Amino acid sequence: PFHKSKGQHILKNPLLIDSIIQKSGIKPTDVILEIGPGTGNLTKKLLEAGKSVIAVELDPRMVLELQRRFQGTPLSSRLKVMQGDILKCDLPYFDICVANIPYQISSPLTFKLLSHRPLFRCAVIMFQREFAMRLVAQPGDTLYCRLSVNTQLLARVNHLLKVGWNNFRPPPKVDSSVVRIEPRKPLPPVNFKEWDGLVRICFNRKNKTLGSIFRQKNVLSLLEKNFKTLQALQLTPEGSSDDTEMAMCVSALGDTLGDLSMDTDVGKDDDDDIEMDDGDAKASDFKNKVLGVLKLGGFEEKRSSKLTQADFMHLLSLFNKAGIHFS
Ligand code: SAM
Repeated sequence: PFHKSKGQHILKNPLLIDSIIQKSGIKPTDVILEIGPGTGNLTKKLLEAGKSVIAVELDPRMVLELQRRFQGTPLSSRLKVMQGDILKCDLPYFDICVANIPYQISSPLTFKLLSHRPLFRCAVIMFQREFAMRLVAQPGDTLYCRLSVNTQLLARVNHLLKVGWNNFRPPPKVDSSVVRIEPRKPLPPVNFKEWDGLVRICFNRKNKTLGSIFRQKNVLSLLEKNFKTLQALQLTPEGSSDDTEMAMCVSALGDTLGDLSMDTDVGKDDDDDIEMDDGDAKASDFKNKVLGVLKLGGFEEKRSSKLTQADFMHLLSLFNKAGIHFS
């Protein structure tokens, strides 16, 4: 009866559901967004805890089952079920999101939520364990990656609960974790495209020094191209983008991160980096400019795997001050 392709794994442990509800900090006045309510085990307790629940479910059979379950009960007037793909629909207003989602949409969903306005209070979401650990990873942790840095720029994330595979029917192949995502208010004043451009380059080889990353031929030629284009147009990207523009960049980000955000450099061959040779005098001027910025901030010998949010912010502002841009 369950569709594997839709990630249908139903929560069967009532104590676990109680624990999720309790840790969510739902207020009686809250409008709750639930994604993928399935047969409604979580939905029922959300309805008891909050003011109303808007549940978005892809599978029409599940939508019917859910409506049948609450029909004629006092809870039904506070439940709105919408049939559709959460990634394709316009999100309604909500105060808090609580969901046991299909894992294949983790990344795009996270950034769709973070790009929604007005910003919600928090989201409490069940993810595949590894995705959850990437979200909360800190500098120096093995799983610290572009997903960690970008999410933590926009939100505070905490690991709430470890959940074993045997809490679901049918059981998935992987363990899970519940994570709390709380959008930062106000959002930090960075141009998000610039930010992600820098972070992408840094994490392409996260265990190499920034000095060697920024000596790579493809990196230097990309940056020089941006530099020349902006000079020709006599433009500089704004220091921070306005909120609408930021939201658009954030929502697009999920698609570039992939489901499991395997953006670490595992398996990449260190020998395939081509460093810019100094034969071309002009190219070498630009290279010196870039390396000068790294030296100025003391970043040459540092590695992305150890850089904090504040480090990335500082590095970006030094680059931008030197007229070097990432978008
Ligand atoms: N919340 C239920 C529970 O905890 O028992 C079911 C969770 S199950 C992991 C995920 C649910 O999301 C399924 O009911 C599936 O049909 C639904 N779903 C899958 N893809 C979806 C999408 N893109 N948009 C909305 N719902 C989706």
